[in-house]
Amino acid sequence: MSAQRIGILGLARSGRAAAELALAAGHRVYASDAGDDVELRAAAEAVRRAGGEAELGRHDLERLARCDLIVVSPGIPPGAPALQDPQVRRRPRVSELEFAFRHLRAPVIAVTGTKGKSTTTALTAHLLQSAGLDAPAAGNIGLALSEIARRPVPPDWVVVEASSFQLADVDTFAPRIGVLTNLSPDHLDRYPSVAAYYADKARLFANATLENLWVLNGEDAAAMALPGAAPGRRYFFRVRSEPGASEHGGSVDARGELVLRLEQGVIPLLRADELRLLGEHNRANALAAALAALGAGAAVDAARAGLRSFRPLPHRLETVAERRGVLWINDSKATNMASTRVALQSMTRPTVLLLGGRQKGEPEPYTALLPELREHVRAVVAYGEAGPLVEAQLREHVPVIRVDGAFAEVVSRAAGLAGPGDAVLLSPACASFDMFRDAEERGERFRELAQAGREGASAG
Ligand code: ADP
Repeated sequence: MSAQRIGILGLARSGRAAAELALAAGHRVYASDAGDDVELRAAAEAVRRAGGEAELGRHDLERLARCDLIVVSPGIPPGAPALQDPQVRRRPRVSELEFAFRHLRAPVIAVTGTKGKSTTTALTAHLLQSAGLDAPAAGNIGLALSEIARRPVPPDWVVVEASSFQLADVDTFAPRIGVLTNLSPDHLDRYPSVAAYYADKARLFANATLENLWVLNGEDAAAMALPGAAPGRRYFFRVRSEPGASEHGGSVDARGELVLRLEQGVIPLLRADELRLLGEHNRANALAAALAALGAGAAVDAARAGLRSFRPLPHRLETVAERRGVLWINDSKATNMASTRVALQSMTRPTVLLLGGRQKGEPEPYTALLPELREHVRAVVAYGEAGPLVEAQLREHVPVIRVDGAFAEVVSRAAGLAGPGDAVLLSPACASFDMFRDAEERGERFRELAQAGREGASAG
């Protein structure tokens, strides 16, 4: 490639890595970010040190309009003002995913879908690593793909979590294996329609060939329809239904065992309760990851061992303590109703649920959770800004205890309500910003309090 002028939008981790990759490849770089903080300053400094130009607090649109190629970081939505500028719009533009892919010398497993991307990506990488392969996870979790593309020795495989924004601006991106976890309407604040959102996801199949393997959700009509006539083998995973006689893929049998049925025959993997991941949705994620890993050449025994040893990602139905017969589960990442519903469906014990935080203005009232609350919940502890609303909407239907105080008090009350054999679940269906910096900080605090015990919690 001859030297080009490359404009990079966004200087967080992936943007910085793309800038460094472009400079290492001999291009000229102008990178900008509308924000300005300590981390961005360090990134801008690193770009300058490597011979590029970097700007914070604004994007110089005239400058961008003179670039040969514009690389868009994952955090920048398609509707971002800088991308809407008429001059900038005329320039060729790619996502960081596409840009990195052009420089990458390793085969890719791409994971996309509305839910379960991070878990499935991390698990697939873990299974390949269990099989002794050098297979980093990249994208939203793990490293930026551009960082991996710069490695002098390419890995055996890269497992990439690909968001719809990143798929929007691909061109040559051609994963060897593609996983589509599921599809449901999402990001409608940033997309004009569901069709537009699905169309970006469909870019996964844009460069399909007969060499490809597609791992698809056999119980999701929209996900089944998305590849259309794309060439390549197809494996289907399903957790609630029986596979068709000639279908290749994975399912859960009547005895609760995860079983694959591939070209080479039937392969029992393990019992669902041997997974450290909770819930039916995670069985789907596990089957998808196993199919992708075996498709990439991992040995069955290694995949089995990897499925047994994989721990949930932090703050996603993560068991953080077991004390006096009570299981403490941190699902702080559940910031909307749908995630909390999935969490409740995953509970096998009577549960004390911590519900509250800052409301995200979802149209559904909390009573939308009543079927799951009635089936699984011993009591709801309503807290934070949303506390009064949670209490008002639920108190006639299920036991609700409202706690107005600090988070330590919220946790301490929950501990008092749970007995041996119960679970305490933080799956708040709300954002955390009323009391915390972000969902991670909320989850960490919950973990500390859960591990410290009731005494510690009251004092904290
Ligand atoms: P993503 O990266 O797509 O946001 P994660 O793996 O981080 O997905 O999971 C986020 C949340 O999505 C989980 O806490 C859970 O509520 C829900 N989830 C995960 N996997 C699935 C799935 N296969 N089907 C439905 N919901 C899921």
